[in-house]
Amino acid sequence: MLNVEAVNARLGRVLVVEDDPGIATQMVRGLTRAGYETGSVTTGQAALDWPVPDVVLLDLGLPDIDGVEVCRRLRQSCDAAIIIVSARGEESDRVLALDEGADDYLIKPFGLQELLARIRAVLRRSRQPAGHSQVLQHGPLTVDLRTHKVSVHGQQIAVTPKEFAILECLASDPGRVVTRQEMLERAWDEHWYGPTKVLDVHMAALRKKLGDPHLIETVYGHGFRLADQDAGS
Ligand code: CA
Repeated sequence: MLNVEAVNARLGRVLVVEDDPGIATQMVRGLTRAGYETGSVTTGQAALDWPVPDVVLLDLGLPDIDGVEVCRRLRQSCDAAIIIVSARGEESDRVLALDEGADDYLIKPFGLQELLARIRAVLRRSRQPAGHSQVLQHGPLTVDLRTHKVSVHGQQIAVTPKEFAILECLASDPGRVVTRQEMLERAWDEHWYGPTKVLDVHMAALRKKLGDPHLIETVYGHGFRLADQDAGS
């Protein structure tokens, strides 16, 4: 199906963090066949010690450190996209993991094609094609689409791929109200069928990081927009 030799180099590096050898073997096999450079570890500590990959597929029930804690530490130390792959499917589990910086959440059992689609989606979010260099500026906010760097009042802020996607949505047409549905579709890909509450979780985290509660306005019943910056324009 895929010309593995040709795409291998640029598809990306994926780390599977899974203590169930059956599931791990299946995932590694599928990912390798799809052309990803794939590594596999069975503990949280080994995941934290691993050279930073492009995508981490993270089980929550690990023998040493809980996956949510691993997620939190990974997010603090690197900008790899994190997809939780877990049998824990409760909304509270999802929200907790997303709150700790996960980019997506896949519930076991899952199909390989869906896993691959989600990996493509997070990679698409964290990469911009060459030549698409563009810097969006709105008031004190600067969003660099090529380097994925965000700054407020010249101060650089570390954001997760999802938070960046939200900002990209808003900053690409400042002042326009972006509906919740539109944001979920653009930032979470068409494969997102989960609760829309995750958007609020990411939005709250993003606002906190931006440090200015008035930068992103909630338009009740509609969605969000970047606030007017009269002073700056
Ligand atoms: Ca497990």
